[in-house]
Amino acid sequence: MPYTKQYMYFYDLPLNKPILKALYEKNYEKPTPIQEKAIPLILDKKDVIATAQTGTGKTAAFALPILQQLFRNQDTAKKSKKIRALIVSPTRELAIQIEENFASYGKYTNLRSTVLFGGASIEPQKERLKKGVDILIATPGRLLDLHKQDCVNLDYIETLVLDEADLMLDMGFIDDIKKIDRLCPDKKQVLLFSATMPTKVIDLANTLLNNPENIAVTPSSSAAKGVSQFLFYVPKQKKIELCLHILRNSIKGRILIFRRTKFGVDKLEKTLLKNGYNATSIHGDKTQTARQEALQQFKNKEVNILIATDVASRGLDISGLDAVINFDISNVPEIYVHRIGRTARAGKVGSSYSFCAADEKKYILDIQKLIQKKIPVIDDHPYLLNPKATPEVHKKKGSKYKKGRKSEASKKNKKRWY
Ligand code: AMP
Repeated sequence: MPYTKQYMYFYDLPLNKPILKALYEKNYEKPTPIQEKAIPLILDKKDVIATAQTGTGKTAAFALPILQQLFRNQDTAKKSKKIRALIVSPTRELAIQIEENFASYGKYTNLRSTVLFGGASIEPQKERLKKGVDILIATPGRLLDLHKQDCVNLDYIETLVLDEADLMLDMGFIDDIKKIDRLCPDKKQVLLFSATMPTKVIDLANTLLNNPENIAVTPSSSAAKGVSQFLFYVPKQKKIELCLHILRNSIKGRILIFRRTKFGVDKLEKTLLKNGYNATSIHGDKTQTARQEALQQFKNKEVNILIATDVASRGLDISGLDAVINFDISNVPEIYVHRIGRTARAGKVGSSYSFCAADEKKYILDIQKLIQKKIPVIDDHPYLLNPKATPEVHKKKGSKYKKGRKSEASKKNKKRWY
């Protein structure tokens, strides 16, 4: 949809007074580009596929029109309320954050929202459902669990939102999503939001959405604008030393460090703590309480370094960062742009430091192709990678009896790597 002046301000959009009042209080004046594009389409009852990353205002892009649409039935007596909007989110933190957004934009309406997620006691969630809810935000597993226990009725869903669809597929939720879709009425509006649009997400959209409108904001390459990017070639085993060197000499302030695995996150956290840094971490193996606590400490500025896996931190509204360290380089170029985009929000200037080992050089080439520029290389550091270094080949260790085959029991015990 072309940019139209018509939607310059929120009050140009067909949103009712209670919603506008809440936006005014939050000092939101103008819709962001994704909101400007998505809100009229959603109000028009269209199915929508949106390519939008966190930080673009994508949550309000679906939350505001959903609140507006449900507003007409808002005065239904509490207990006879039916769930009419369902937002499915891959991670607990993201689900909580979405619910907070609904609660704050809808604070002057009588619409009620609640959030369901695993890893927390189920009874209070059942109690909240019993009280009557209009808008439900949930992670797939807990939602299906509560549905099986007859605590959730999805027969009245008018709008289904799949948020961070690419991540949901990466986390193996495809069957759950399809099941959730089948549990909702056939005739409903489906909105799919995804930070990246790989073929598997497009395939999913084709099976679930009906004649959808496609929208995208900021071609991902431009999201990197305003971030000073630096690239360090470094042997894998020297990355921790390089990280300490940079923290000592180059960066101050609030820093988010990305590592690929939870094991890597834990290891780096221990080293930073031992070296006197104020660091915490989030990853998929931490308890829900520990993850929330870490996030809150970072948001409240009690700690200034947060180490995270991509999966644990995706979609989270962690803003106002001074720097991002890509300790491990992602093999998905869009993720690089997504990560560094967290620093330069709202006109701020941030910086990103990427550590590239021999086996990650190919990812850098893909990233540079996407952002259409070369990332400046910093070579005045003590841990330079030999330019001729080739990726390490790990020989399989282990006893001859194991032969790399896993028992059924060990497969069941498989731990998540994120
Ligand atoms: P999101 O991409 O949904 O995670 O939103 C990123 C941040 O932008 C959140 O802190 C929102 O509260 C904020 N935000 C969303 N829409 C607007 C707007 N129109 N004006 C100012 N801030 C906004």
